[in-house]
Parts: sequence; structure tokens; C-alpha cells
Amino acid sequence: MSRAISLQNVTKRYGRGAPAVDRLSLSVDPGEFLVLLGPSGCGKSTVLRMIAGLEEITDGELYLDGEYSNHLPPGGRGMAMVFQNFALYPSMTSRDNIGFPLRFEAPGEDHAPRVEATARLLGIADLLDRYPGQLSGGERQRVAMGRAISRRPSVFLMDEPLSNLDAKLRNHLRAEIAQLTRELGVTTVYVTHDQSEAMSLGDRVAVMRGGILQQVSKPREAYGLPENVFVAAFIGTPRINLLQAVVHAPLEGRMSIDLGRQRLALPEPLSPDHQLLRIQQGRRLIVGLRSEAVRIAVPSQARPGEVPISGIVEHVEFQGHEALVHLNTGSQPALVPDLESPRPQPAPRRRQSQGGSVLSRLRERTHVSGPVVVLDEPEAPGITPDRPALSSGDLVVRTGPDLRLRTGAQVPLLVDLAHLYVFDHYGRRICPTPNELPGFEI
Ligand code: ADP
Repeated sequence: MSRAISLQNVTKRYGRGAPAVDRLSLSVDPGEFLVLLGPSGCGKSTVLRMIAGLEEITDGELYLDGEYSNHLPPGGRGMAMVFQNFALYPSMTSRDNIGFPLRFEAPGEDHAPRVEATARLLGIADLLDRYPGQLSGGERQRVAMGRAISRRPSVFLMDEPLSNLDAKLRNHLRAEIAQLTRELGVTTVYVTHDQSEAMSLGDRVAVMRGGILQQVSKPREAYGLPENVFVAAFIGTPRINLLQAVVHAPLEGRMSIDLGRQRLALPEPLSPDHQLLRIQQGRRLIVGLRSEAVRIAVPSQARPGEVPISGIVEHVEFQGHEALVHLNTGSQPALVPDLESPRPQPAPRRRQSQGGSVLSRLRERTHVSGPVVVLDEPEAPGITPDRPALSSGDLVVRTGPDLRLRTGAQVPLLVDLAHLYVFDHYGRRICPTPNELPGFEI
């Protein structure tokens, strides 16, 4: 059996401060694999624990199979949880660890067949007589999963179950979890801060930030149609390029997007999306370009919809099958607070302003709710003492591994306007316009 879970306007407050989860409405279909994704502290585990009944819901409703279940005790929910810090009983064999909940639930019954069937499913049948101290990290996690599976729960709740494992094992077990949960057809809610894990596992991904749900959609849609700049920046590697921009829409002449020292000239006739940008004339906006939206090529190679700019090579990251080229196009990056592990930048060359600017204070904020975006402060025109002609790298582009690029060289670039995102000052996507996706096949 597999359950439907529905959270309606659910809020969790631990104290007097901002709620850990703020008016969350989210439904999970029976048998669905839903991933809760977001940076540390955004409320993912709290949501999971409320579903499990381990945390009281401050406000709002939880429905299980359509029945109001806020006060149902954890034991009555038919759910099994797997944690990051899985705790196996050290003095019990794998067999006893897996069978422990069964012995607890139905003492006196013979649970051996079910324990063995579970172990076979997880590929650990030959480890049943070992103690946790005699198992590797991956094997221990499999036993922990076995303990959850053996109960035949109607819901799996998994809280970063792979975080303690090395990358290779994580990838391996990730694939196994996906296969297993599908085979069992059990509704699964899986918490992770790792976007690649979320993208590869989830039927749908719910992105959270500061206790607030940002977007819930299929992984491809979250990548291709991010509803705001936070989702755009949180999902995808390398991180999307986010540049400060202003739309130029003269009464006569071509419309363009000003990126600081260069402009993207929008081709005529304007697409419906670009037409709509006209009303943004003069406002400070954010342009988002994923690394695959820009390529190193001369203007004569431009395909329809591609427009030329240029950049100076700052740094090349060789990745084996490809290289990531960090370029300087003279634009100012837009910063998104709350994202973990910001994109590594080459050695900073910009002068820091003295005395703590508004920007630096905003950068220090650790907890921001809602789609707030920080734009760099406008430059004082004409005053650039001790400053290089261009600011530090602002654009990352993918190339083949064989292209030899010298640091400091100027390279021609083609920007594919079909893959251009524009976000307003609050970080909401305004291009492509919501519910439309020119250039993408979802
Ligand atoms: P995540 O799983 O996304 O890392 P959590 O759900 O664990 O986030 O936490 C969300 C917020 O709630 C954090 O600010 C965290 O410090 C706070 N929090 C979590 N558990 C408690 C608790 N038991 N008491 C007080 N604050 C808590």
C-alpha cells in the first residue's frame, strides 16, 4: 500500500523568530518520489518530521489519504524513516537489526523469511550475520534501509540518507534507492541539499528557501523553467551566470539588453517574450545565462537567435571531458543570498569598499526568506581608481577540452537568446514569461 500525503498551509514555529516552515502547501501522490531540496536550514527536515509525526504542526493541516492526520501518532502512520546518521545497534547482527522493528511490532512471529527477502532485495544476504563494526559505510546504510523496508511501510521518509558516504558509493546507492522505491511503489519523500541528487532521483522536486516553498515541478522543468532566480541558481552545474542588466527600448532603433560594457541586441522582429521586456525599460534586472547558452565562436558563425559579445579569459577549469572557461565580459554579477558553496571565483581583483557597504551587509545575511535578490551597487560613473578595465570573471562557458585558451585573451562569444532568462529586481522570472518556454522542449 502506498499513501497520498497532503500538507495544506503548514507552518512550523520553534520559537518567536521566523517560522522554520512558512505556510507550505504540497501534495505527494501515492507511489510518487518527491525530493525536498534546499540549502541547509531551509526547513526540509522539519517538513519531513511533521509528516512523520515527530514534530508538531503549529498551524495548517496534514492529510494522509485524504484524512486529517495532524494528531495521528507516528506509529499509526505506517511510515519508515532513514536518516543521515543511521543508528544500527552495534551489538546486533544485520539480521537482528533488520528484524528489530518486526520483533517489536509482532513479537513471537517468525520474521526470518521477511528479513531474508529484504536482504536479498538490497544485495546484503551474505552480510546478515555480521555486526555493524564489520560492515563498510555503504553496507551499514543498506542494513539501515533494510530495517526501514522490512516493515513494508506505506511511506519512506529519507533525510539525507547518503550524505555520510563517499561520492562513488553515493552515486551507486542513489541509483539503487531510485530502483528500489519504484519497485516497491512506495510513496517517498527524500530530503537533500544536493541538487544533482534531487534531479536524478525525484519524480518532482520541491525547492525550499528560508522555510518557504519556491517551486515544485519535474526536475527538467525546475532546470528549464525556474520560477525565480534562487531556483535558477540552486539547480544546475556549473551555476547559472547571473548578470545585472538594463533593457534599452528606444522609440526608434533596436531594442537591447545592456550588460554593463556590452549589449545584447535583440533580433527583429522581436519575439513575444522580448516584446514584453519593453515595459521593463530602464529598470534594473537580472539576466540568467546557463553555460550552454553561450559558446565561443566568431559572429560569422552565428545561428538564428544568437547574438555576439566578447569576453576576456580569466581562468580555465579543465574537467577532462570539457573545460569551463571563466570570462570577463564587463558586467556585474548579481548575487543571490542563501545559496551554499558559491561558485569559486578566480583571485578577486576588485577593490573592496571601506566601512561595510549595503551590499556587504546584505551578503552577510544568512537567513533571507522569499525571492530577494541582491544586485551589486551601481558604480560611480567615471571613478575607477586602481581598478582594472573590467571587473573579475562574470561568465562561465563550456568548451571542448582541446581548445587552448590563454589567460587574458579576448574571445568572441555567441549568446543564444532562446536560452536567455530575465528576472526582475525581486528575482521573479519575467522572461520566458511564466508558463511559456520558447526554445525548450520539456
Ligand atoms: P534543513 O533540514 O533544511 O537543514 P531544518 O528543518 O533542520 O532545516 O531547520 C529549519 C530551521 O529550524 C533552522 O533554522 C533550524 O535551526 C531550526 N530548527 C530545527 N529544529 C529545531 C528545534 N528543535 N528547535 C529550534 N529550532 C529548530
